[in-house]
Amino acid sequence: MTDNIQYHEHLIPLTREQLLNKLDNALSAGRFAHVQRVEKVAMDMAKRFGADVEAASIAGLCHDYAKQRPDEDFIAVIKQKKLDPELLNYGNAIWHGVVGAEMVKDELGVQSEDILDAIRQHTVGGTYMTKLAQIIYMADYIEPARDFEGVDRARELCQSNLGAAVAYQTKHTLEYLIENNQPVYPQTLLTYNAWVPQYRKDL
Ligand code: GDP
Ligand code: FE
Ligand code: FE
Repeated sequence: MTDNIQYHEHLIPLTREQLLNKLDNALSAGRFAHVQRVEKVAMDMAKRFGADVEAASIAGLCHDYAKQRPDEDFIAVIKQKKLDPELLNYGNAIWHGVVGAEMVKDELGVQSEDILDAIRQHTVGGTYMTKLAQIIYMADYIEPARDFEGVDRARELCQSNLGAAVAYQTKHTLEYLIENNQPVYPQTLLTYNAWVPQYRKDL
């Protein structure tokens, strides 16, 4: 239907159909379906909140592009590109966004730093997040197949108050990590401090 639209060259040098083919090859059937659901939610949110709908489509589709890559691939990129060596103390959960954005840039040709930042921040957030980055962060959290306690409140906030929605997810992710004795990536804590106290009245 709209599959064969050519995206703007300065965002990605592929048609949507070509991008879908690459994602189909890189991802399991389940995760390929997930990124398409995230795309749809992100495009709806971009219309609602006045962000670039085409960028939301690309970022939504590409956000988990690297999720199934072996650890060695991420470690090689961290070293080659001299990314923060602290990254080596974490794993796929952190790498597939922060490091995965480099693979999206190099392998899919995405040049837009706005899209790349949204992918970098989609798991750990950011102190400063563009509207697009906030939308991808939230669309990933509330896409229709997500089912966890609190998802309805997160969906409500995504209708009315995007900043509060970001704060809500950040707070609940940190609670979950602590409850499960998981390591917290430093940016996740910085994101908490930047968003949760600011929106405390809306949570
Ligand atoms: P997905 O890729 O669609 O499954 O979703 P995400 O990219 O948002 O999340 C990947 C995983 O990373 C989730 O299970 C989060 O709980 C986890 N996560 C988020 N922040 C942190 C963190 O600071 N440290 C660790 N260890 N895991 C985190
Ligand atoms: Fe992810
Ligand atoms: Fe995801």
